[in-house]
Amino acid sequence: MALRDFARVRPDLPLNPFDLAGFANLIVLDFDKVQGLSETAREHLLGPASEAWSGGACTLPNGMKLVILNPNHGPARTKATLMEEICHVFLAHQPNRLSVVTKDERGKVMNRDYRKADEEEAYGVGAAALVPYASLKRFLLQGKTGRDIAAHFRVSRELVEYRMKVTHLWREYKDFR
Ligand SMILES: [Zn+2]
Repeated sequence: MALRDFARVRPDLPLNPFDLAGFANLIVLDFDKVQGLSETAREHLLGPASEAWSGGACTLPNGMKLVILNPNHGPARTKATLMEEICHVFLAHQPNRLSVVTKDERGKVMNRDYRKADEEEAYGVGAAALVPYASLKRFLLQGKTGRDIAAHFRVSRELVEYRMKVTHLWREYKDFR
């Protein structure tokens, strides 16, 4: 809710993480504007490897953070990625110095720049900012579906369902259907 206060957005309205990025000292850079990337790297990142990354971030000498989002991912997914980066900053997570390649629960090999617990915390807090509990519960009681709620908050249905599960509204919703 405090994150929403920064952007002055009511709990029942969609939150646009792009409005929040500045408060977290984040600069979102267009992938097209990245310089010094070889044509091979560009083709790899946007081609075969496109599903393997959603965003990248680095800290500039002045302390601001530069974030590059995967331009191939849709707006809902991009928002969740940016929201997570914003939360890493607000939660004062310290990135690991080394990028470790690990297998996650979906079996994908990916680079991690934060500890796994910090990744989960940042995603969880970001999802809560995008879909606050009270509004989620009210919409469900009004009979709205996960899809309706996702469209309302302009996020993915998966993110809404994740919120329903972690807030224990899922069982109620499933029984109700
Ligand atoms: Zn992260």
